[in-house]
Amino acid sequence: MASKANKPLRVTTDVDFTVDGKQFSYLNVPHSRNDSAWGSVRVPIVVVKNGEGPTVFFTGGNHGDEYEGPIALLKLARSLEASNITGRVIIMPTLNLPAVRAGTRLSPIDGLNMNRVFPGVREGTVTQMIADYVYSVILAHTDIVVDIHAGGKTMSLVPCAVMHQLDDKALMDRTMAALLAFGAPLGLVLRELDSEGMLDIAVEDMGKVFISTELGGGGTVTTHTMDIADTGIRNILCHFGLIDEAVTTPQARRLPATRLMHTPDDGCFVIANESGLYEVLVDLGAEIEEGTPIGQIHFYETPERAPSLYKARRTGMVVHRHVPGLIQVGDCLALIATDYEYS
Ligand code: CA
Repeated sequence: MASKANKPLRVTTDVDFTVDGKQFSYLNVPHSRNDSAWGSVRVPIVVVKNGEGPTVFFTGGNHGDEYEGPIALLKLARSLEASNITGRVIIMPTLNLPAVRAGTRLSPIDGLNMNRVFPGVREGTVTQMIADYVYSVILAHTDIVVDIHAGGKTMSLVPCAVMHQLDDKALMDRTMAALLAFGAPLGLVLRELDSEGMLDIAVEDMGKVFISTELGGGGTVTTHTMDIADTGIRNILCHFGLIDEAVTTPQARRLPATRLMHTPDDGCFVIANESGLYEVLVDLGAEIEEGTPIGQIHFYETPERAPSLYKARRTGMVVHRHVPGLIQVGDCLALIATDYEYS
């Protein structure tokens, strides 16, 4: 990998990952542009360390229109003190800062999806350079990664913690334990439609624990999804022994009640074959049978044409829905998950 050669990093920071205490700092990513010749993008990073113990790396804002992660991690960054932990917590509430600033999924600077550019490119664009630093430096210091996603402006999901089916049984066991410890109402073992370049895969390939979330969506937060994020973060810190359960408040530790589900094949994804206006016929969270009509697409330019009906291709729960009223060919209009027994 040419970008991982022994060249100096282009991203700079004054953070020292090895010292005890709490540091608020930035990754300075060079970004020369018309309105700032020697400009940079400053991506916040917070490191809290005390003694020897595992390192948990929390990320939010991987996609810029998903808000539980940035909000919960800003709160964590302010509230967590080194004296209250054993180990190290690295927090990046706005991993793709330009996208968060713009309220968009992708970076407005280079049009890139942060979660499709790993392991990054040293000589690349802003998004690629951030990924390169995360991959080359931060992941090397990290044992566990929790990347907090939501549905963004175009999707909404039943709030869930997410992991992938992994070939390494020992890593699968450790990841499953973390997924259940997070304490979301739903735990989803997800099959990705397109996983190339994901932070998830980069971490999993290192043999490290990676869990993600999909908390609601629609480009906003609810009290329910914020509670899941705030509680899940605390639960993870307890689970890996960074904070003591005994010193957390009782409500900060949710009893494990996660319903485990998975999406074992492409039949779980219902994809639009037409463009038009989307009418949802079953609500998010509905339990449905194979063949149940789940939505229809109306053709506003040809009123004489009947709407196109979409049916579930398997029995299960509707865990995702398309949000905007407009739908286009190739959009995922629903995802159906089925119960999963892990052993
Ligand atoms: Ca996302």
